[in-house]
Parts: sequence; structure tokens; C-alpha cells
Amino acid sequence: MDPNCLFCRIVARVIPAKIVFENERVVGFEDIAPVAPTHVLFVPREHFASSLEVDASRRAVVGELVQVAAQLARARGFAEDGYRMVFNTNAGAGQTVFHLHLHLLGGRRFGWPPG
Ligand code: AMP
Ligand code: ZN
Repeated sequence: MDPNCLFCRIVARVIPAKIVFENERVVGFEDIAPVAPTHVLFVPREHFASSLEVDASRRAVVGELVQVAAQLARARGFAEDGYRMVFNTNAGAGQTVFHLHLHLLGGRRFGWPPG
């Protein structure tokens, strides 16, 4: 755990968050500033900054983020309509928290290309 990292502190329950999923490897919680009716962030418990740090040892946990996010999309009833999963990486893509996280956005329509 990195004590200076916001999402490590949420995972450790030092900072409160609305946790909607957790297991031994990943945690999902509601985004504090949602941009869609569902906006949940899925993070590995292990701290690493971004998709640039996904190596062979981390492939499985990144796949698990996608799997559990898709399960939540089904459970919340918008899987068939469609939803968006996003990994922002580095400042030019809008990354502000440097602990890898998958955004699950659902419950409305999404334009393409994104802003
Ligand atoms: P990104 O811009 O991809 O790094 O996403 C960071 C996300 O974290 C943003 O959507 C923020 O709204 C969200 N966020 C920031 N602080 C908190 C917090 N304390 N609890 C939940 N979500 C947060
Ligand atoms: Zn962290």
C-alpha cells in the first residue's frame, strides 16, 4: 500500500467510499463525481500507477477488473443497452489518480469519439 495514494487509502478503508464489490484482489466503489447514472471504479488492491505498468504478473488482475465490471453491468440491467469501460492513462488522457482504475459507465448513451 502507498500511504500517499487516494485509492490505496480507499482499499484500506482509511477513506470512506461506497464499495459495491470486493474480493481478495479487486475492489469496486462508486465514483465521487459520477458522469453517468452508474459510474463505478474498479481497482486492484495492489498499487500500480497505470496500464503502462501491466506486466505478465498483472494480466490476470486486469482481466478480472473487466470481468467483474461486466458482471455489475448485467446486474444493473444496462448490459444489453451498452456501457463504456475506460482506463485513462497519463495526463493527456485525463488521468488524475495514479492507481490503476477501470471506469464502468452505464445507464445512458455515449458518444464517439469521446471528448
Ligand atoms: P481518472 O481521471 O481516470 O484518474 O479518474 C479518477 C476518478 O476518481 C475521477 O472520476 C474522480 O471523480 C474519482 N475520485 C476522486 N476522488 C474520489 C473519492 N474520494 N472517491 C471516489 N472517487 C473519487
Ligand atoms: Zn494506490
